[in-house]
Amino acid sequence: MSINNIDIEKCCLFFKVLGDPTRFKIIDTLSDGEKCVSEICAALDMSPSAVSHQLNTLKKAKVVKPRRDGKNIYYSFDDEHVTEVIKVALEHSSHSNIEI
Ligand SMILES: [Zn+2]
Repeated sequence: MSINNIDIEKCCLFFKVLGDPTRFKIIDTLSDGEKCVSEICAALDMSPSAVSHQLNTLKKAKVVKPRRDGKNIYYSFDDEHVTEVIKVALEHSSHSNIEI
């Protein structure tokens, strides 16, 4: 198997962006479907500006995508690959004996 340097950098950025507890909590709230910014704020007890900042980072790395509906912006996973990666990561974490 070969992978070019651009793809390696994209993969590393993808996991780097996932590798943050606050961003992963946001991702967890999206795992049962799209949420608007205020729903994410309420779930994490965070300010809209802090949540928007993290969503922007997730969006730039193509982890999430926005959908505007009137005044609200809803966020969901970018596509089914993200859904699958998160599902597998959560399953693996729940049964693994990783020392933290
Ligand atoms: Zn496993």
